[in-house]
Amino acid sequence: MPTDALQALKRGEEQLWLNPYLRSDALSLLDFTSDDITDAQMRLSRLAPLIAALFPETQESDGIIESPITEIPDIAKAFSIQGCLLLKRDSDLPIAGSVKARGGIYEVLKHTEDIARAQGFEELLHGEVTEASIAHLRQQLASYTVQVGSTGNLGLSIGIMSAALGYNAVVHMSADARGWKKTLLREKGVRVKEYDGDYSLAVKRGRELSAADPMSYFVDDESSKELFLGYSVAARRLKAQLDCMGIAVDDDHPLNVYLPCGVGGAPGGICFGLKTEFGSAVRCYFAEPVEAPCMLAALLMGGPVPVTELGLSGRTIADGLAVGCASELVYLQMRHLLDGEYTVDDKRLIPWQRLLWETERIFVEPSACAAFGGMGHIPDIVDGSHVTHIAWATGGMLVPESERQASY
Ligand SMILES: *Cc1c(COP(=O)(O)O)cnc(C)c1O
Repeated sequence: MPTDALQALKRGEEQLWLNPYLRSDALSLLDFTSDDITDAQMRLSRLAPLIAALFPETQESDGIIESPITEIPDIAKAFSIQGCLLLKRDSDLPIAGSVKARGGIYEVLKHTEDIARAQGFEELLHGEVTEASIAHLRQQLASYTVQVGSTGNLGLSIGIMSAALGYNAVVHMSADARGWKKTLLREKGVRVKEYDGDYSLAVKRGRELSAADPMSYFVDDESSKELFLGYSVAARRLKAQLDCMGIAVDDDHPLNVYLPCGVGGAPGGICFGLKTEFGSAVRCYFAEPVEAPCMLAALLMGGPVPVTELGLSGRTIADGLAVGCASELVYLQMRHLLDGEYTVDDKRLIPWQRLLWETERIFVEPSACAAFGGMGHIPDIVDGSHVTHIAWATGGMLVPESERQASY
């Protein structure tokens, strides 16, 4: 079976892969525990007043960065899903307009707390937030640099947050990154460096340049624990949202969650959070483009392997998922925890994007639409009116109108 899956992967065919390495005790094998999630959640709460002051769009939620969840019955009908289909709208997350607003902003905040503790200016983070305290904080952070390598959205999240706090922010962008993302970052005062190569190259260069500067911190998407934990907080908040909607999740009412996957941090952290919260009642499936299925390749090969070594291009219109090699850290957490994966052909993404816009007036970027790829496969196995499905819409809000028109 794994060999068949590997053949299909190499041929660039769509497939559903159910994880034969799944273990019921998988959570006990991980590098992280629910205490780590609690710690991350408390940090975000502690710094919420600062977020609210820096980003007025978060004032309504008191500085908590969270997205709505919406039932999408017309899409459920289109995919012949019997149970309730929900869209988790990280495409509308404030500040960065994508799932990266979770992990990315969290890591910048964690790093800022670490500096403040070492330098003795914690009061500026945890005391009363005023115009003067923010000006003072920015002055303290102005001699520090934060850098990141990105296909686009992580760069937006880290760049916007770091610049707002007063850091020198540098984003190393791969060739896949869209022009408007670079323009937006430059408008926010972020330095954007462009590379001809893929995402791994942008990360590698950024990591090297940052290592050469003692005042610089590198957000390493290929190995970051902080990103992983920042993403994991999503699950507890989701539980509260489902409770509010009267949606039960237990072994008689399972939850299927479909998560677009790039390097693995975002879907991996969310999966870890969900499994911690809901145990065996939740099943998580990752979605990847047929030309860039780096996490599936890692799961099949027993470790991260560049997809180009398997004869694939790594190219996809789903720019948030255009990643050639998975995070080893995330692969190791997912190996026994993830229920399965499916791959999606690029040509299906735009029709789904249009369908969601026409039926629900919700805009998401092509990467986010990969989540819908499971609908064709997974209901055969575990559908029924008692199953709740969540498609995780990972990005979209910041996409400019001109890009949206071109996309349709
Ligand atoms: C980054 C991203 C993902 C996947 O996250 P990874 O941490 O790279 O796996 C999915 N969708 C969008 C829109 C993204 O920007």
